[in-house]
Amino acid sequence: MNALHDPSAGGSTIRIHVLRYSPTDPARVPRMQTYELEQTEGMTLFIALSEIREKQDPSLQFDFVCRAGICGSCAMVVNGRPTLACRTLTKNVGPDITLAPLPFFELIGDLSVDTGKWMRGMSERVRGWLHMKDPNPDLSRIEERMDPDLADKIYELDRCIECGCCVAACGTARMRMDFVGAVGLNRVARFRLDPRDMRTDADYYDLIGDDDGVFGCMSLLACHDVCPKNLPLATQIGFMRRKMVRIGFK
Ligand code: SF4
Repeated sequence: MNALHDPSAGGSTIRIHVLRYSPTDPARVPRMQTYELEQTEGMTLFIALSEIREKQDPSLQFDFVCRAGICGSCAMVVNGRPTLACRTLTKNVGPDITLAPLPFFELIGDLSVDTGKWMRGMSERVRGWLHMKDPNPDLSRIEERMDPDLADKIYELDRCIECGCCVAACGTARMRMDFVGAVGLNRVARFRLDPRDMRTDADYYDLIGDDDGVFGCMSLLACHDVCPKNLPLATQIGFMRRKMVRIGFK
C-alpha cells in the first residue's frame, strides 16, 4: 500500500481542510483552506493543528487547554461529526480531514467558538447550581458522607466537560434557540440526584417542563452518539421526561 494511502502509517501525508472565517474581518468571505503535512506516529488533531500554526500559518485560530479530553475547549466538527480534537488520532480520520467550527455557538474565528457564553446562559436557565436545603450550612462540613452508590451516580453525570458537542449535534437546538440541550438536562439530572439540594420535581418542572426543556427533545439521539464522555444522555432525558409528564398531569 502506498504510504500516502495508508492512514495508519507514520510518515504518510495528510491533508487538513479547514473552514476559515473571522467575524472580525467581515470583508473576507468564508473559505476552505488546505494544509498538507506529514503524519507522525500517534499524531492527534491537536498536534497537527499546532504544527500547522507553528510552521505554516500563525493566523489559524483554534482552542486548546488541557490536551487530555478534560477541558472541552478543543471541540470542533471533524469530517461532519462534533468531537474533541485532542482525542482524535489523525490516522483514524485521515488522510483527508475536514474541520469546521462547532455550529450553534458564537464564532470567534476559524475553529474557535465561544461555548462559555452559551453555557452560562444555559446554567442560569436551569439554575444549575446547588440549592442548599440548609440556608446556613456549616461550611466546614459541607462534604457530608454520602452513600457511595449515590455518589457514583452523581459523579457519572458530573463528568460533563461542557464541550458543546451534544448541542452542536442537536436538531432541536437548531430550531429552538433557548433549548437547554442535553448538557442542560444532564445538569438538572445531576442536581436532582443530590440529597443536599432542596428542589423538588415540581421545581424542576417549572425549569425544564416545556419545549425549551425536556419536551423539546426530538429523541434523535445525536447527543448520545457524539458525547466524548459517553454520558447516558438518552437514558437521563427519557427518565426525566417520564417524571415531568407525571407532574404535568397532576
Ligand atoms: S453532555 Fe457530553 S457532549 Fe454534552 S457538553 Fe457534556 S461532555 Fe460534552
